[in-house]
Amino acid sequence: MKINLNIDKVIETIKEKKYKVIALEGPEGLKPKIKDVAEKIEEETGATVITVGEPCRGACDLKNEILPKNVEAIFHFGHKKMLNTIKNVYYLEATIDCPNWTKKIEREIQKLDETKRIVVVTTSPYEELAKKTARYILKRGMKIHTTEKGHPTVINVLGCQVKEIEGVDKETDLYLFIGDGVFHPLGVALNTTKKVYQIGPEAPILRNLSQYRNKILKKRLLVIEKAREKKKFGVILGLKPGQRKLKEAMQIKEKLKKAGYKAVIIALDEINPEKIINFPDLEAIVNTACPRVSIDDQQNFHVPVLTTKEAEYMLKLIGRYKPF
Ligand code: SF4
Repeated sequence: MKINLNIDKVIETIKEKKYKVIALEGPEGLKPKIKDVAEKIEEETGATVITVGEPCRGACDLKNEILPKNVEAIFHFGHKKMLNTIKNVYYLEATIDCPNWTKKIEREIQKLDETKRIVVVTTSPYEELAKKTARYILKRGMKIHTTEKGHPTVINVLGCQVKEIEGVDKETDLYLFIGDGVFHPLGVALNTTKKVYQIGPEAPILRNLSQYRNKILKKRLLVIEKAREKKKFGVILGLKPGQRKLKEAMQIKEKLKKAGYKAVIIALDEINPEKIINFPDLEAIVNTACPRVSIDDQQNFHVPVLTTKEAEYMLKLIGRYKPF
């Protein structure tokens, strides 16, 4: 497996814009590689290059406001573009390559039901592999969702944004997620009733996520029921640039109050149990920041932590469960 950080593009941009000080940031898995390319970028451009060592949770987590003012540009690796409004931030989608990919997955793809219509889903680093997979499935004569122009559909998702699957869900029997780990395909699986399979270069073995989805779903429904019995809610307003949803926080606070609950808004950057413990009278949380904290980290909190959509479900404002 090869990871390409596309640093030629970084060097070209620095030279073209004549930047003198820039910062590089990206998720934890890419940090060592980012630090290594920093030296090469400095040598090639003469600019001072700062590697951000602070955690980077996702495309929402830019450090533009806390870096020194003379940092002229940020190069953000490994995530699809999320924020359009911040100047001089360049999202660079690190690409992952896997030699002989279609050969490696040939036997696994045969396990998929040929009568079912497939939609290929992925995240930005795996997009090329996903496209290869989709073309391979089409070539094999299996059923695959295609665009109006006849190209196989490949949907790129974030951990908290899977909206694009809504447009194809009715015409789909199963989703095939290309990429490693279960974080992203779980986001898809929780937002559809269709089957979701995952396969990635780290372990090219087809994995059916139905059981895992059902387990998480059951847990979430229990958390929602627990929250329903509580009286005092904290509504989290995220402070990370892509997690600031004041309007959403104000609206859900009002909805909670209208239903007879007490609710206050608490602003947080990192959402973790240590911070919630500072508010011992809060009995439940509605988290308008990163919905994946509620879903993936619930076991670490002493109180139920709902996403905004889950709170609306609890209040019976939406009929069907959707986490985000
Ligand atoms: S809000 Fe959460 S899931 Fe969405 S991009 Fe940020 S860290 Fe990832």
